[in-house]
Amino acid sequence: MTARVLVVDDILANVKLLQARLIAEYFEVITASNGPEALEKCQAGLCDIILLDVMMPGMDGYEVCRRLKADARTAHLPVIMVTALDQPSDRLQGLEAGADDFLTKPINDIALTTRVKSLARLKMVTDELQMRVSTGREFGLDDSLTDHVDPKDGREGKMLIVDDRASSYEKMVSALGREHEVVVITNPQEALFRAADENFDLVIVSLAIENFDALRLCSQMRSIDRTRMIPMLLVTQEGDEAALLRGIDLGVNDYVSRPVETSELQARVRTQVKRKRLNDRLRNSVQQTMEMAIKDALTGLNNRRYFDRHMQNLFNKAVVANKALSLVVIDIDHFKQVNDTYGHQAGDDVLKTFAQRLLKNIRGKDLACRFGGEEFVIAMPETDQELAFVVADRIRREISAHPILVANGSIQIAITVSAGVATCFGEKDSIEQMLKRSDDALYEAKRNGRNQVIAEAA
Ligand code: GH3
Ligand code: MG
Ligand code: MG
Repeated sequence: MTARVLVVDDILANVKLLQARLIAEYFEVITASNGPEALEKCQAGLCDIILLDVMMPGMDGYEVCRRLKADARTAHLPVIMVTALDQPSDRLQGLEAGADDFLTKPINDIALTTRVKSLARLKMVTDELQMRVSTGREFGLDDSLTDHVDPKDGREGKMLIVDDRASSYEKMVSALGREHEVVVITNPQEALFRAADENFDLVIVSLAIENFDALRLCSQMRSIDRTRMIPMLLVTQEGDEAALLRGIDLGVNDYVSRPVETSELQARVRTQVKRKRLNDRLRNSVQQTMEMAIKDALTGLNNRRYFDRHMQNLFNKAVVANKALSLVVIDIDHFKQVNDTYGHQAGDDVLKTFAQRLLKNIRGKDLACRFGGEEFVIAMPETDQELAFVVADRIRREISAHPILVANGSIQIAITVSAGVATCFGEKDSIEQMLKRSDDALYEAKRNGRNQVIAEAA
């Protein structure tokens, strides 16, 4: 994985040093020597991650960060603040400016590589999700899903601490317990099961667990579907550098080293929780988008697009195997009157209930779709015309016999439906012609007085 890193520092020697180290790790590096230049390069979309010096003449790093985070074009870019001072108050100021991470000068090589790698990976995932969400927005998806702001600001998360030393986990519990729900498990195997069963926002793993390779747990977490997306934070100590790098390659998101400093742990945990929430939101919205692409939002039935795709498969299969295939087109009678009498909302409720009843009356291999408005189509594989007629008429009778309840059952709406049936006659037939014939049959049913099923003329 590679990424374009923008190094911003007013002192050329610092720039060169960071540049050399990052290039050695195969990152692409661009540079800027002051705030305005950095902003310009970010706005032009030239970088994926920013290493930002805090102390610069003119516009300082905090101000640059604030401006980046306030601009929709650059708000998603991860910012790592580079500070000469290692004071919790500086970190706080950086966090308030919206920074994603910190590094303290003199910069430790491992810290640099892990932070940049982890943020590069995160940005890749987020970018991908964001792209799919924008596609979703074209389908009319809710904009709030892409909102970056976490109303809880990374607090009120649920964490799992995997550590077998009481003195060590007690300290973390007291640092995190006030703003999060914290579960401690001393056995790594049990921890894996718990992580798969419950919804944790973060798993904190001590690298020093006795009689167990903590990295094995990290790698197992990344290989199981249920835990793949949970962020992991390693607790390391001096001498653990090689293991830490392996951990980062296995997908560990961040680390703190012992002695664990309370405010740093709290800040890193909040950042992970915030990111997890954002990515969860994005992922849900992508899922919704994919469903929306093939489903009708009101009834949950498949939509026309899906029908066109899937019907072609059913048709080809039927022709090749010389099996029957029937189509039923169903239209609600005088549906306009339902809207006119009871209102559009009641009309919607009728459509939903009708769709549910439709599904109850067909088999799993039948394909039911909302074609538009109050018109529905069912494709029935391995079903000849006679049988399709029986099924359609059973639906018709069921609908006319039981009025639909809307407005919490306070209103009963009696509806009827008309339907037309057509059956595939072989390879000379086509989906288009089948639809046309079932439509013709439907219109005949309407002309004949509605509330009836007509099969195409044999
Ligand atoms: P017919 O028996 O000839 O089919 O008469 P109809 O009134 O059912 O047919 P028409 O095509 O004249 O009217 C269909 C109505 O369905 C008009 C439209 O407002 C309504 N409709 C279409 N889609 C929806 C929807 O999603 N929700 C609601 N509530 N009404 C819808
Ligand atoms: Mg109608
Ligand atoms: Mg109609």
